Amino acid sequence: MKNFDELQLSKDLIKFPSITPIDAGAINYLSKKLKRLGFNCKILEFKDKKNPAIKNLYARIGNKQPNLCYAGHTDVVPPGNIKDWSVNPFKPVIKNNYLIGRGANDMKSSIACFLSAVSDFLKNNKKINGSISFLITGDEEAQAINGTKKVVDYLIKKKEKIDFCIVGEPTNPNKLGEMIKIGRRGSLSCNLEIEGNQGHVAYPHLSNNPINSLIAICRKLKEKPLDKGNKHFQPSNLEFTGIYVDNKAHNVIPAKAKTQFNIRYNNFHTAASLKKMIISTIKSICKKNKIKFKIEFLTSGDSFLTKPGATIQMAKNIIKKITKINTVYSTTGGTSDARFIKKIAPCLEFGLVNKTMHKVDECVSLSDLKKLTKIYNKILIEYFK
Ligand SMILES: [Zn+2]
Repeated sequence: MKNFDELQLSKDLIKFPSITPIDAGAINYLSKKLKRLGFNCKILEFKDKKNPAIKNLYARIGNKQPNLCYAGHTDVVPPGNIKDWSVNPFKPVIKNNYLIGRGANDMKSSIACFLSAVSDFLKNNKKINGSISFLITGDEEAQAINGTKKVVDYLIKKKEKIDFCIVGEPTNPNKLGEMIKIGRRGSLSCNLEIEGNQGHVAYPHLSNNPINSLIAICRKLKEKPLDKGNKHFQPSNLEFTGIYVDNKAHNVIPAKAKTQFNIRYNNFHTAASLKKMIISTIKSICKKNKIKFKIEFLTSGDSFLTKPGATIQMAKNIIKKITKINTVYSTTGGTSDARFIKKIAPCLEFGLVNKTMHKVDECVSLSDLKKLTKIYNKILIEYFK
């Protein structure tokens, strides 16, 4: 067996019950492994008043540019009811050529594949034409406040330059090789409260019903599509996810009505431009209805796109050679930490098959583990040629 065998590394990592934001030893384990390969490892702990301290790792070998970085996370989502699993989620088991365990595809095994690929690469290349680095966080699945975002700020402060980043999130819907993500949509959430006047339902002229204004606002925000999408992005979409009025009495006009919604948006918009549009829509209706409103926005990152240049094309060719699949470039799905890293480096995201991520009996095929390691290894060889 190889010293840095991807299957063994995957199993070792899955055994740490690193349910977000708990680290459970996973970051130290990786740091030790990377030190053995000659990496310079820096464990970065960040915290704030509201959230617990999070361990992150930045490791680098080589001091020349270009610096090719691999980014990932060791935290996992909770397993849910353990009784629903066919195995203990933190005691990985192989069944029918699949490795089962929490983090098997999102994304401990991907980290294992890259680590294995790097160890192989270093065995055959005593000198690198540049540097390889790892940016690993323990805070991706939850708040992502003390994770990659702060590591990126730290790297900027230290003038540490990354030339290209591979994010190892699971990107393939069904088969390894189907999808490279070259960007992500942005996400903006909003809580809106309309403040009217309470009153008797028989005397509506003596009160101001907030429900009427709320409905008018919802209709206005939803009636016109935000855009039609473009070559790399699907159309942006605003979706209402809740409407609340705390009132049980049929004869009372309530004082308040609330709604919440989320927008997944493409590169036609920014959080700032959307906020402006939303506020002006609400203001015009509230002004007409002589009613007050309170609004709160929650941003989780603007949309971004890495134009498919030479490195992405090179990765696509390697993926095709190894998987025999013609990869598509995509920007679909949820957000990832690439939204922070794009501030300092172009990113491509490619990892395992995401069919079972966050589910009971999360699993990865053993042959995919081998193939992904090979893909990552070939990318290293080509990149530093
Ligand atoms: Zn993930």
